[in-house]
Amino acid sequence: MVGKVGFIGLGIMGKPMARNLMGAGYELVVYNRSREKADELSEEGATAAASPREVAEQSDVVVTMLPDSPEVREVVAGENGILDGIEEGSLLVDMSTISPVVTEELAAEVGKKGARMLDAPVSGGEPGAVEGTLSIMVGGSEEDFERVKPIFDVLGDTVVRVGEVGSGQVVKACNQIVVALVIEAASEALVLGSKAGVDPAKIIEVLSGGLAGNKVMEAKKSFFLEHDFDPGFRVELHHKDLGIALSAAREYGVALPVTAIVDQMLEALVAKGSGDRDHSAILTLIEDLAQHKIGPESTSH
Ligand code: NAD
Repeated sequence: MVGKVGFIGLGIMGKPMARNLMGAGYELVVYNRSREKADELSEEGATAAASPREVAEQSDVVVTMLPDSPEVREVVAGENGILDGIEEGSLLVDMSTISPVVTEELAAEVGKKGARMLDAPVSGGEPGAVEGTLSIMVGGSEEDFERVKPIFDVLGDTVVRVGEVGSGQVVKACNQIVVALVIEAASEALVLGSKAGVDPAKIIEVLSGGLAGNKVMEAKKSFFLEHDFDPGFRVELHHKDLGIALSAAREYGVALPVTAIVDQMLEALVAKGSGDRDHSAILTLIEDLAQHKIGPESTSH
């Protein structure tokens, strides 16, 4: 049985996820680095805490949804962090996408306090977070998984325990490889077709009905066609995720040649000042290389 739920990290994903938990009747204690985001939720009935430590002191389960490994490490093990307040028997559920190595380190620290940790990164983006239809890949013991399952069921439609602590992050890295490479492939296809004079909307329409049809292209369709790259999922976060995939690949002796190329493309986007745009902005790099911007009228640069 889950009592009070703590929620730390109320960004693009965390805020709607926290809202869904409140909507399902959970009592929430929230914290975010920029205070306004926590205040917004406290107006809707959550309790705003002054530090991650306070969140942990007041909750049976603490969920974190933060950008990257350094932020999760700071919130868990830093000054006034979760480790300073977590009670014996409590659970920490990190739903951020971070390094599996850092996950295992933090799980060991949490274990020293008599508490336990699950890693539960997600896929499905902002729409999945808002609608409560995320795909959640969970690493941790079966017993801890069953205890938090009612929370996962509020946040997602597909909830799978994939192995022990850290394995959720490994599977998320696999997910991020597929998403990045599909965005890149769709970008190449759209720029070629458009420069050859075909309307890219027609290309997506007909590809979607055949073997090349896929969810990523469907989800990113309006970003591509409207050239609107408001995130969504930020380029710099996806760059971080391919970094995680490539270091896991190195550790396990696996060559990921195309992932490495797309990682470099994301690096170039960050250097160009596009780190805050949606990851579908990979399209703009392919457009630059072709000196052609896609559009129904096939306008060249
Ligand atoms: P975001 O940057 O919108 O949100 C992160 C939040 O954490 C912000 O509100 C920020 O203020 C807060 N924060 C940062 N450092 C903090 C600290 N030290 N203490 C307290 N709060 C702090 O990011 P997001 O898009 O919500 O992504 C969160 C995680 O989910 C990332 O790991 C990302 O890779 C993953 N993810 C994102 C998406 C997506 O589509 N956006 C999809 C799947 C997974």
